Amino acid sequence: MKLSTLVKIINSIKKITNLILPYDFQDFLLRKSGKGTYLSQVEFHLVDHCNLNCAHCNHFTPLADENFCKIDDIINDFKKLKTIFDNIGKIFIVGGEPLLHPELLNILEPLRTIYPKSEIIIITNGILLNKQEDSFFETLKKYNIALSMTHYPIKVDYENWIKKLNEMGIKAYYFSLDRNKMRKQNLNPDGKNDKNKAFSMCVEKKCHFIRDGKLYICTPAPNISFLNKYFNLNFEVKKTDYIDLNKIKSASKINALFKKPIDFCRYCNDKEIEFDTYRISKKELNEWVKS
Ligand code: SF4
Ligand code: SF4
Repeated sequence: MKLSTLVKIINSIKKITNLILPYDFQDFLLRKSGKGTYLSQVEFHLVDHCNLNCAHCNHFTPLADENFCKIDDIINDFKKLKTIFDNIGKIFIVGGEPLLHPELLNILEPLRTIYPKSEIIIITNGILLNKQEDSFFETLKKYNIALSMTHYPIKVDYENWIKKLNEMGIKAYYFSLDRNKMRKQNLNPDGKNDKNKAFSMCVEKKCHFIRDGKLYICTPAPNISFLNKYFNLNFEVKKTDYIDLNKIKSASKINALFKKPIDFCRYCNDKEIEFDTYRISKKELNEWVKS
């Protein structure tokens, strides 16, 4: 039998299983089989603001007020996640710039305890690396936390840092090799875009995001309040645009929901993806909204 035929059969069985088996029972079977329930990846803001402020930042952080997220709230969110997902592939600590948070080190041990097998990765623009004390590097090494460098065209010697960190026994690498250009968000405030098309071409639909007990498929909806507030806009986040972790507690159901567009997708770009040369934000509307 051809591999493609086998894949088709497996996918059909999965679809039928989703139709006939309750999600809780699917979770039960996964746990019984020893595979456990699983989420591919999740990210969270440690701070909302940033010390770089790139145009087109897809977390809208140039527009955000200074806000250091509470470590206890984040840990509570991860305790909730653990009751649903036995394992998470990758946990990204993001922002804004996570190294701005004075209590960054305090979150690493509890996160590692809750999810001992996950890849835990801090995404940083690297500007504050040379201000870190030895305890920062020792803690990263102790809890096996990686650093992913966003590698923007700024005065940070990323190559040297990656070499140095790797020599210290800390995983460090580039987040992306080409950061000389930024993807334009091109949001449409009318909300009249084709949400199925936007979803099908979306590159962010696997960037799941957690905040305040709510799990989102992607990053724009949970952070859109920064854009709304700054420009007095009204991009709406409906209750169906996120998973309330106090109400939906099945991993299989959540993973099934994450395969479909949400209502918020109607604001997202459904045309050809456009890029702009990397630059610092002027906090102009057209950095995020299609003009
Ligand atoms: S460094 Fe990252 S978080 Fe900060 S503004 Fe740039 S893209 Fe956004
Ligand atoms: S709202 Fe939909 S189209 Fe927009 S980033 Fe999220 S998943 Fe993608």
